[in-house]
Amino acid sequence: MAYTYDLQNNILKANKTELPLDDLEQNLVGTCSKCNADVVSISYHLQDERTVVASRCSACGQMYAILYDEYWVWLGEHILKEVTSSEQEDSENADSISEETTEPTEELLALQAIPLKKMETTFTQAEIKTLFAKANGKKYVRQYLYRARKKYQKFGELFDIYLQI
Ligand SMILES: [Zn+2]
Repeated sequence: MAYTYDLQNNILKANKTELPLDDLEQNLVGTCSKCNADVVSISYHLQDERTVVASRCSACGQMYAILYDEYWVWLGEHILKEVTSSEQEDSENADSISEETTEPTEELLALQAIPLKKMETTFTQAEIKTLFAKANGKKYVRQYLYRARKKYQKFGELFDIYLQI
């Protein structure tokens, strides 16, 4: 798989498919295989169940796409090739993707309408976080979602709110 990155717009592509942006965070994510200096993350992207972290060596500037699975287990890394925005051909596609992800879903609106105190009586923090992530179309831990789903009935009986996430 070939990874390219537009530094100006934080657009990461895998074989010309843009991967949705999940986070812009600078963390130390490894050491450069060229010069051994620190590699720092630039942005986090989602690719199916995986996270691809666009990162750059703080010394030589070499960029890497580092892959993790849904449990943050390291899967491997690829050289990340820089492209400039003028080389980004399908900007129309990119626009429609970002619109989709920024518009809150009905699931998310329904979830936001529930007072957190009520959620906390039934769900753990991890489960609540997972429900929001799922409703928001973001990366989530399936195990927590399954656990939370088992409590929907109880939550419904307590508060007459029936979740459908
Ligand atoms: Zn380096």
